[in-house]
Amino acid sequence: MATIRQQDFIDSIAAALQFISYYHPADYVKSVAAAYQVEQSPAARDAMAQILTNSRMCAQGHRPICQDTGIVVAFVRVGMDARWDGATMSVTDMVNAGVRKAYLDPDNVLRASIVSDPVGKRRNTGDNTPAVVHFEVVPGDRVGVRIAAKGGGSENKSRFAMLNPNDDVVEWVVGQLPGMGAGWCPPGQLGIGIGGTAEKAMLLAKEALMLPINMHELKARGAQNRIEELRIEIYDKVNALGIGAQGLGGLTTVLDVNILDYPTHAASKPVAIIPNCVATRHIDFELDGSGVAQFTPPRLEDYPDVHWKPAPDARRVNLDGLTRADIAQWQPGETLLLSGKLLTGRDAAHKRIIDMLAKGEGLPPGVDFTNRFIYYVGPVDPVRDEVVGPAGPTTGTRMDKYTETMLAQTGLIGMIGKAERGKAAIESIKQHGAVYLIAIGGAAYLVAQAIRSAKVIAFAELGMEAIYEFEVENMPVTVAVDARGRSVHEIGPAEWRKRIGMIPVMAV
Ligand code: SF4
Repeated sequence: MATIRQQDFIDSIAAALQFISYYHPADYVKSVAAAYQVEQSPAARDAMAQILTNSRMCAQGHRPICQDTGIVVAFVRVGMDARWDGATMSVTDMVNAGVRKAYLDPDNVLRASIVSDPVGKRRNTGDNTPAVVHFEVVPGDRVGVRIAAKGGGSENKSRFAMLNPNDDVVEWVVGQLPGMGAGWCPPGQLGIGIGGTAEKAMLLAKEALMLPINMHELKARGAQNRIEELRIEIYDKVNALGIGAQGLGGLTTVLDVNILDYPTHAASKPVAIIPNCVATRHIDFELDGSGVAQFTPPRLEDYPDVHWKPAPDARRVNLDGLTRADIAQWQPGETLLLSGKLLTGRDAAHKRIIDMLAKGEGLPPGVDFTNRFIYYVGPVDPVRDEVVGPAGPTTGTRMDKYTETMLAQTGLIGMIGKAERGKAAIESIKQHGAVYLIAIGGAAYLVAQAIRSAKVIAFAELGMEAIYEFEVENMPVTVAVDARGRSVHEIGPAEWRKRIGMIPVMAV
């Protein structure tokens, strides 16, 4: 009979979360590398080069793959014969103690992203607790844990439907993808749950994301059951949409489609989709009473030989002294290397600014957006000699409702985020002769190398949501919406969908 010590369990949770914050699963890296090799869209290829380079840098530097270090989700399997030695905490409290230890680790501090009172004050809990914990009591004397740190951008694009029994699951799933946009940071994986009840289908979709990425092997041996047929059919049809890496248009949107099913009511066909993003982070371990779980790091030589460098013809932009006339020359899809000063702000800072402007209070002292750019980012705190931790972009679409006011009332001329913008925001960008740029979601450590200094200038109490001033040097971005309102997220996928109609769908 295995006897599990409370501290071993806590330390194992913490070690697992640290491990997955900087080591991608090997199957994810292998799959992106294969997609990179066959990609024909230059923009998508460049995005994947950044993702692969970032992945290796994080493995070397032991710093997070993405600035959003996720919400912790744990599936705990407790053996009916396992004993807990002198435990004083519930297993859920032990998981949370492990989360706290991992996220506050001074050697690799992770970003605290969890807020309590979600419909009220949305106050950051400060240590990324609580986790979402699911339990199963199983035969045996071991305790198994499958743990993930799930990114908010990809979780936000989850979908659910109660289909009629004879409705076509493939048609519904493929029909969801264009509306999910690029905010889930493709290329990634789709977890699909089919059957059970509403909540069971969602849970199956989340568990499906923990399955291996092995579409290559599946296609090579051929489908052997209905679920495998569905996986291949959805995979091919989604990739034929041409959405591509980061929604820039290209051959690979999904690396795999994993499906779990469960018996359901004769009147129902519940279907859930949860996408997983570039920051694919999950691992399994089992405790047998012999101590803390051990994790084997990947070998650096197993990473693909891809080392992103800015294209020699990229336009170099000095952010200090830019005018609307300068930015009017930029073309959608063009790569820029930004140098100079920019301000940051995301959801909470935008809400405060808009509220202050509505009350006639003006901007906070020291904040001046005249002819400046705002970067939608909530960085990880720095460690050692860093000026800032990983600092990749967050989803621009969430700032759409603030965009007209920001452009009309603050003198702002540009925004940097990730993913597409909505119709109204694009119209505002066009009317004000502004631009929207994107950085690569999930390449946060690479992007942070361009940041030379960082200081908080307003709303310090908002933590990672404060307004910072960054000084950047050669920060790589792509023009996503130009001053005429042309969007690369419309042009790119439309072009690649047409081309894929003419060329064979990618064979991994
Ligand atoms: S890769 Fe994108 S969706 Fe995933 S955690 Fe990072 S920013 Fe969020």
